[in-house]
This record gives sequence, C-alpha cells and structure tokens, in this order.
Amino acid sequence: MAPTPMMQQYFQIKSEYLDAFLFFRMGDFYELFYDDAINASQILEITLTSRGGTGDDRIPMCGVPHHAAKNYIDQLILKGHKVAICEQVEDPKTAKGVVKREVVRLVTPGTHTEGKSVDSKSNVFLAAADELSDGFGLSYVDISTGEATATYIMGTEKALLQELQSLNIRELVVSEQLFVLLTEEEQDLVLSIETMEEAAPLSPSLVANCPNDLHMSCHRLLAYIARTQKQSLDHIQAFAYKENNQLLSIDFHSKRNLELLQSIRGGETKGTLLWLLDETVTAMGSRKLKQWLHQPLANKRMIEERQHMVAALIDQYFVRVELQGLLKEVYDLERLSGRIAFGSASGRDLAQLRSSLEKVPVLIEELANSGNPALVEFSEKLDRCIEVCELLQAISENPPLSSKEGGVIRDGFNQQLDEYRDASRNGKDWIAELEQKERKLTGVKSLKIGYNRIFGYYIEMSKANMHLADLERYDRKQTLANAERYTTPELKEKEALILTAEEESLSLEYDLFVAIRDEVKQYISRIQRLASSLSGLDVFLSFANVAEKYRFVKPDFNDANEISIIEGRHPVVEKMLNKQHYVPNDCVLAEGQNMLLITGPNMSGKSTYMRQVALTIVLAQIGSYVPAESANLPIVDQIFTRIGAADDLVSGQSTFMVEMLESQYAITHATKNSLLLFDEIGRGTSTYDGMALAQSMIEYIHREIGANTLFSTHYHELTALEGTLDKLHNVHVAAMEQSGKVVFLHKVKKGPADKSYGIHVAELANLPEPILARARELLKTFEQDKKQQPKNIEQLSFFDEMDTEKDEILQTITDVQVAAMTPLEALQLINELQQKLIN
Ligand code: ADP
Repeated sequence: MAPTPMMQQYFQIKSEYLDAFLFFRMGDFYELFYDDAINASQILEITLTSRGGTGDDRIPMCGVPHHAAKNYIDQLILKGHKVAICEQVEDPKTAKGVVKREVVRLVTPGTHTEGKSVDSKSNVFLAAADELSDGFGLSYVDISTGEATATYIMGTEKALLQELQSLNIRELVVSEQLFVLLTEEEQDLVLSIETMEEAAPLSPSLVANCPNDLHMSCHRLLAYIARTQKQSLDHIQAFAYKENNQLLSIDFHSKRNLELLQSIRGGETKGTLLWLLDETVTAMGSRKLKQWLHQPLANKRMIEERQHMVAALIDQYFVRVELQGLLKEVYDLERLSGRIAFGSASGRDLAQLRSSLEKVPVLIEELANSGNPALVEFSEKLDRCIEVCELLQAISENPPLSSKEGGVIRDGFNQQLDEYRDASRNGKDWIAELEQKERKLTGVKSLKIGYNRIFGYYIEMSKANMHLADLERYDRKQTLANAERYTTPELKEKEALILTAEEESLSLEYDLFVAIRDEVKQYISRIQRLASSLSGLDVFLSFANVAEKYRFVKPDFNDANEISIIEGRHPVVEKMLNKQHYVPNDCVLAEGQNMLLITGPNMSGKSTYMRQVALTIVLAQIGSYVPAESANLPIVDQIFTRIGAADDLVSGQSTFMVEMLESQYAITHATKNSLLLFDEIGRGTSTYDGMALAQSMIEYIHREIGANTLFSTHYHELTALEGTLDKLHNVHVAAMEQSGKVVFLHKVKKGPADKSYGIHVAELANLPEPILARARELLKTFEQDKKQQPKNIEQLSFFDEMDTEKDEILQTITDVQVAAMTPLEALQLINELQQKLIN
C-alpha cells in the first residue's frame, strides 16, 4: 500500500535525521514511528501502538503529549541519544493538504542545556576535534553559557580521549576521516560527524584569538551548532585560546587518583579536593572553580594575580561576609545570557537579570570601601551595565513565569499599554458595580456576574430565585442544572470593550517585552564579562574562607625547581579525620635531592604523604593557599601519578597492565619540571620482576628525567639504591611497636624503614590467631636464612649464580630504552626474559 501523504512527509524528514529519534508533531502529541517507536517505547516505558493499514502494513507508533515532552527528551538524551523536534509550522486550520512540518531543533547530549539532567553547577561541553600533523585541534563550547575554548592536544588519539574524559565532554563532532581513525571507545563519544573539509569562515571575530590551524575545529563546532540549534547564538563568546604551556597538565588517571574532582570510588564529590574547596555561593562560581581545578595554571604571573586577590580578602572577614551575601543574590548571569541569546528568556529571567545587576553598585561600593588596593582595583573593573539596567526598568517587579499572560511590563512604561489596561480595569470595576446594581434591582442576593472563555460575561441566578427577577430584561445564554445564565445588551457592549482592551494589551505587552529582550542581546558580551569577574570573585572568597578555616598559608614560588613544604598536611584526609590529629610532615626536594624513596609498613601513611605533596602543588597553581606552615614551590608543568588500584577492576585490564601503562605514560611525558608520584610500583607481579622493574624505573628517572619524584615501595631491598644514586634519598614513615602491637606515627623521617610490620597489620585486621602465630614462626626462619647469606641489591636471588645468559639478561634490562617502548613491547620483553630464566 502506498504511504499516505503525511507518511511521505515523515519519510522525507526522517531521512535527514537517521541518527536521531524523530519527534513528529501531530496536534497535541509528538508521535514516533517504526524503529524509533519500538526503541523509544522500551527506553521510555510507554505503550507501543500502531497506525494505518492491516497486518504487516501497520506502522509501529508511540506518542508523548507535547506538554510532557521535555521529560521524555531528557531521558533519551541522558542515555546518549539525539532527538529531532519536528513541529507543525503552519496553522492546521488554514493549511491546504498536509500541514507543513519542519525540524526546529536537534537536541543532543552536548547541546541539551535544560532539564533535569543538567546540573547548574557544572558545564555541559560540546567539542569538535581535527587531526593536525602532530596531534589534534580541539575546540569546545558550553552552549548554555557561551564559553568557548580552543587548544592543541599533542600526541595520539589516546591523549585526545584523555582530554575529552577529563573535561567531561558529552559529545564530539569530527570529520568522517577522523572518525574512522578512532577506537570504539572514542567513537562512543562521537555523536556527530560534521563533514566540512573546507573551513568556511563562519565568524572570523570568534576565532581571532586562536592560531590558524585551530580555526577548522572551531568552525566545525560552530557549523554543527548552527545546524542543530537553528537559532540565534549571539552569546557564543570568542574562542579563548588555551596555551598548554601556560597550564599545569594532569592526565585523566592522575586527576582521578588524586581525587581532585571525583573520588576514586563511586566518582562522587565527597572526599575530593573540590568538596573541600567549594564554598562558592553561585552556580557560576562553582563552575569556575571546577574549571580551575581541571586546569591549574603554570604561569607564575597569572597564579600570583589570583593569589593577590585571595591575600586581599583573607584580612577582611566582614567584607567577605558582605560580599558573599551580595553574591548569593546574583542569579546565574551566564545561563541568563544564554537564554536571552536563544530568545527563550522569560519576563522573570529579565527581572532576575535586573535584580542581579542592581547588586553590582553595592558590590563595587563594598570593595571600594575596604580600602584594600587590590579590591579597589578589582571594583574599578566591574561593569555596572547601566544601559541594561535602564532597559530593564520596563519590566515589572514580579513577572509571571509565562511571558504571554501579561504582567511583564510595569505600569507607566508605555502610554498605549496603560490606556488598554485602564480600559480593562475600568471595565472590570464597572462589572462589579453592575453586579451590585442587579442584586438590588432583583432582590436576589446570590446573583453574581461571572466569566468564562466560551460564553464571556454572564449574570447568573439560581433557579430557586429566578421568580424574583424581571426576566424580560435578560437574554438567556446558558442553562445549568440549578441555575440560569443571562446577558444584557449593556453587558454585551462592555464585554466587547473589555475583551478587546485585554487582547490588545496582552499583544502590545508581549511585543514590548520581546523588543526589550532583543535590545538586551546587544549587551550580552558585557554581561558575560561581568559574570566572569563575579564568578572569579566568588571563587576567591571561597579560597579565602577555606584558607582561614583550615589554616592554609600563601605559598611562594621559586625558579630553582625546589619543593620545600614545611609541616604540610593532606587537607582532605585532615578534614575527614574530624577531631583526630593529623600529623604534619615536611617535604624537601631540591637540587641534589629530587627523589625520595619512601618505605614504611602498610597503612603508615605513604600514599597520603605523596598525595599531599601533589595536592599542595595543585592548590598553589590554582591560586589558592596551601595546607602547611610554609611552602616554597616550583611552577610544575605536569603531574603524573601511579597510585592505587581501586579502578582497575572496572576497566577490565589487569592491575599490573594498568600499572605499566600509567608508568609508561608518565615516563615518556615527564620533563625536569614535572612531579612524579609512584606508589608501590611492581606490586602487581611476582616479587623479583616487580622489584627489578621498580629499580630500573628509578634509575631511568634519576638518570634521564631528573624530575621531582616520590617513590614508595615495600621492597626494602631498594633502599640500598641510596648508595649508588646521588639524588635519591631514603625516608620512611615511622611506626612503633608497643606491647607487640604496631602504632602508626604517620611521621616521615630520614632513612629507610627498618622492619616489616605486615604481621602486625594482619593482627589489626583480626586474622585468626593460628595464622598469625605461624606467620611469626616463618618470619623468624626467613630472617635467619637472610642472615646466613647476606645479599645486597645488586645480587637479587635470581641473579645469584650469574652465568653468561643471565648476564645478558641484566644487560638487556640496563640498556633498554623504556621511554621508547610501548607497554606491550615492555610486557613482551619481560615475558621473553622470564622464559629465558625458566628454561
Ligand atoms: P599507606 O600508603 O602507607 O598504606 P595510607 O597513606 O593509605 O597508607 O594511610 C593510611 C591511613 O592512615 C589513612 O587513611 C589516614 O587515615 C591515616 N593517615 C595517613 N597519614 C596520616 C597523617 N599524616 N596523620 C594522620 N593520619 C594519617
């Protein structure tokens, strides 16, 4: 059977949106057909029906009411789908033939900026990537706020993917050529392919700040936004060029390991650095703090600019309280700007913009009165946006949610509007008087004048009272069960006047509102700049509060690559410990001592110590104060960590493989100015090759990289390396034995740890006594064995009887260029060596 004309129209439109659910508007419903219907009915748990034809000809169909569509769209987007919204674009009453329909918007995970799935305190990023000769051009934008960024990603697709994950990008736009190069994991992120091989210069001013080879990716992104959003994007800001050498780079795994924004377990916020730092009072501020944490700085001047503001606020407790109080009343200016640009801002949004802008002069005064030069200077840069404030005077005090029902424009703004309103108000007064008059005339006290949409104004009397009235005067309008409704010529005439006045008033009011909204649009970039200053202020206030509350100090910076942290603390562990005392520790890494080999029993605090050093660096480089008595720090370019194994099971890779991959990444990317943290390398494999790998890595870092490095290990044997590697020093986290039990002191001291406390820890964990007793017995025999044949690190047991073959193996390990190897090659080599040894 041939499709009906409407279904032909459907096929035509669907063919352009094959990868999206097509929401096809029919009257009060959006209908979905065929596979869309089958899939959506399952995902959304709605009934699958069918339409037209018989038997196999029937078309699977399901529908959602248009007023509830938002919810359903939200669910589909959350699951990573796209939704094309197809509306009727002409009045069905006047349409000839099939009503014209068009897709008015393509909603995608990266462009979905409203609804339950969108957290006001987080950015929603849409990204585009392009292949360049030695890496990628990456651009991304948050459509809800208009912030746009472009940057280079050096390296392979893996580096790209890491950056995408670390920015929490929801959707990536690429060319077909690039798409085929990506792995499945990467392709999952790519929801869109925007074929555009020639970079059409869409808006030169938007890309003016970026190097030429990034333009392509920016244009691809803008083209995609224009294609999917089909509306004004005036609020998209010029792409900010993110220069990587100005930023501290922390790879995705290290961010997770250090729990900067998400905890390792469960990915929640509690227990993260963000959780500790976020005392912001606006959603904009919270988003900015997250951006800063994602991307700490590596430029001293920029860091000190931020420090300067924190320092100024630290001394001013009362100013801080006042400023935070004011900021609390500032609405989300960035998202308001977005809605104004989209043309979706309501009267209420404009009133929120006005009340927010009204806080600016008060904020300026507060800052200026503080007498602090930094705060005064900051206040002088704040834009009062006076023109916008003036424009917004037209908006009433409390506009309703809907902008079409009146009440948006205040009285006295427009003469014509006032006249219409008077007419309608006078008319209503007149009706109230008429009601009184009719009551007197008829003597029916319960007589009332009412209004409904279909019948207009009417006089209502109950049937029981009707006999009192002179019915000659009335025209019957409507009969109810126990009342009659009438009108009179006089009432009819007034009704016409009132209704026209009301109609005219609403339509004029809406026009005035839209005109104001459009005019405000011109000022969007100024509002955005103001928003950025205010969100920055919010973060500075948060830093100052946190610094005071947790006793942080201002770090100094040096150019000698020296880390000198005196009495440093892990701020999150400290907060978690509650009232218990956190033991502060120093960390000094300087010329001639830039590697610490940390030993100590399990649970003594090795990993906490390493993390606290990294967090101190991160805090310093986002402009915050740091948890220590004093800190003198270098500007670090990259932080690499190999810590913990909590997430390894999830990824399906073996613990050891993950360990090797992360080590490989660190070793091949680190420079002298990086910070390396290696926790218990080699734990994932048998003792000897684990230890061998650990040693060869230490030697390599010591010889080739020279970066500040903290290396914790439970291979006591490695402590002998201090004798051969001049920049490596032993420290240990002290523990004490007290009446046969281990007591952790959490204090980092010079020299290697002298005893293994494993059995005591097992005791703490309540392992059955027979196991503990047996272990003690075994330990004794092991220790005696050891005494009988003393060995040092160069003579690990499997090298004991060195024959030439083993000599060769040793030589291979010494010579191998770890940095030049892929992890797979490393594994293959280990395997080969192992085979040789076994045979
Ligand atoms: P390791 O890496 O040596 O196994 P962790 O660093 O995981 O040990 O520390 C174990 C626990 O000890 C932490 O969860 C923390 O509660 C506590 N801890 C660590 N360092 C300190 C410290 N300096 N002061 C107080 N408690 C600490």
